[in-house]
Amino acid sequence: MFNRREFCAAAAATAASTAFGSRVRAADAPYDLIIKGGRVIDPSVRLDGLRDVGITQGRIAAVERTLAASATTTIDAKGKLVVPGLIDIHTHASRTAEGPGMVLVDGITGWIDAGSYGADGIEAGIKVARASPQQGRLLINVGRAGIIAEGDTTDLARADVGLLRETITAHRDLIVGIKARLSKGLTANDAEALRRAQEVATPLGLPVMIHMGQTESALPKLLDLLKPGDIVTHLFAPPPNAIIDEEGKILPAALAARRRGVVFDIGYGRVGHLRWDLVEKILAAGFWPDTCSTDWNADSKTTGVVDLPNCMSKLFSFGQTVSDAIASATVNAARTFPVFRDRGTLKVGAVADVALLELREGDFEFVDNYDNKRKGKQRLFPAGTVLAGKRV
Ligand SMILES: [Zn+2]
Repeated sequence: MFNRREFCAAAAATAASTAFGSRVRAADAPYDLIIKGGRVIDPSVRLDGLRDVGITQGRIAAVERTLAASATTTIDAKGKLVVPGLIDIHTHASRTAEGPGMVLVDGITGWIDAGSYGADGIEAGIKVARASPQQGRLLINVGRAGIIAEGDTTDLARADVGLLRETITAHRDLIVGIKARLSKGLTANDAEALRRAQEVATPLGLPVMIHMGQTESALPKLLDLLKPGDIVTHLFAPPPNAIIDEEGKILPAALAARRRGVVFDIGYGRVGHLRWDLVEKILAAGFWPDTCSTDWNADSKTTGVVDLPNCMSKLFSFGQTVSDAIASATVNAARTFPVFRDRGTLKVGAVADVALLELREGDFEFVDNYDNKRKGKQRLFPAGTVLAGKRV
């Protein structure tokens, strides 16, 4: 897709042109909430500096060096980062009723469940998304049984186009795209499963997210089936279907996909999706992820994923800046689905979804999906969440 700078600039322009409404506010009127003295990093407006954030009626009312007016509630953010609420575009938060609440305390104010459910079980996911305190939406699995060990569409009869279309149409408010989990065991059905996903998604104007790396079909064949706005998750997957060849060159099909607006997402996960040597090669070739997601599950605290702030810290030792890491889970993530159109930013007028983070210095160890350790000197920790102006 675009390089990261264009990505941020385009998002900032979108945010600026969105009709946030313009209530006039007296300078000395009290705020409902002030987040005081934190280091505000908002890549959507290229801000990185000490600021107070004033919030009124659930929206950002002011971001200034100092706010003199009083507030009903004040959060002392000294020593902390204050960033837009985090958006995780690849989680499995809807697999348990507790999922949304568990990730909310990590700073996640918007999530996308990536294919936990197909048409047969979708009601369970719908129920969790509907009850979610923060915005939660679903990608429906192209396979009607959802995630199954043998491969979601190993039996191609499970990729039922009619049923898929019908289910999406019945839940257009909560189903925002389709997941084609092109995992091991699909044989050459992987391309057909993706073709069927597109057959339903394209006329409805919905994105498709593919799980890459473990396919039978060569990656270029699958990438060529992706349209602008589609998402490739697990971009750091190791061979035989990596996005980089043995000479260290990014596949032309991946470069072409990015140029036409396909989003490349991390999807950290736990098994088979990411190995540090591949991360090193892919980043050395200049191919940086657009978005950082966790592939979260309820047991993630013990799988090396831990939480989104931890995942956002994993590329620091490869040279990623703190601001770029934050962009990958805020403004860039917000651009992937229309439901997040006015999120991922702390612009005045935006919904006041805010994550507080601690950036700690020390000796940290980060694990890939093969139990390889990578040392780092900085790590982000969740330190508080404000959702629509209310402290969680
Ligand atoms: Zn997943």
